Amino acid sequence: MDCLFCAIANGDIPSQKVYEDDKILAFKDIDPQAPVHVLIIPKQHIKWAFDITQKNSGVVAYIFEKIPEIAKDLGVDEKGFRIVNNCGDAAGQSVKHLHFHLLAGREFSWPAG
Ligand code: AMP
Ligand code: ZN
Repeated sequence: MDCLFCAIANGDIPSQKVYEDDKILAFKDIDPQAPVHVLIIPKQHIKWAFDITQKNSGVVAYIFEKIPEIAKDLGVDEKGFRIVNNCGDAAGQSVKHLHFHLLAGREFSWPAG
């Protein structure tokens, strides 16, 4: 399978890693939208949020358990941060491997555009 984030997860394509263990990887986005912009991915290939099931949701929960630790390690403070998941073309998902954007270091508008 030709998947950019699988290639990053298995080390075939280099990335600026900020956290890694056997289940997940967090690395700096190549085109940052904020002073802190990290992508957090499961190492296993899950195409998108539509494919989260009872069987694989453990890794999604695990990502969310790790988010506070990753955010703190990046120096994110109590001003806050934003977690974004784009699912599908209408939402702008350009890489079809489930990932969560962790954005911080500036103010974010809401409602989303
Ligand atoms: P999305 O548009 O939600 O699918 O997010 C994909 C993200 O991956 C974008 O923010 C891209 O800037 C980022 N990206 C694409 N290629 C790389 C890469 N080789 N290393 C790090 N980030 C990447
Ligand atoms: Zn993949």
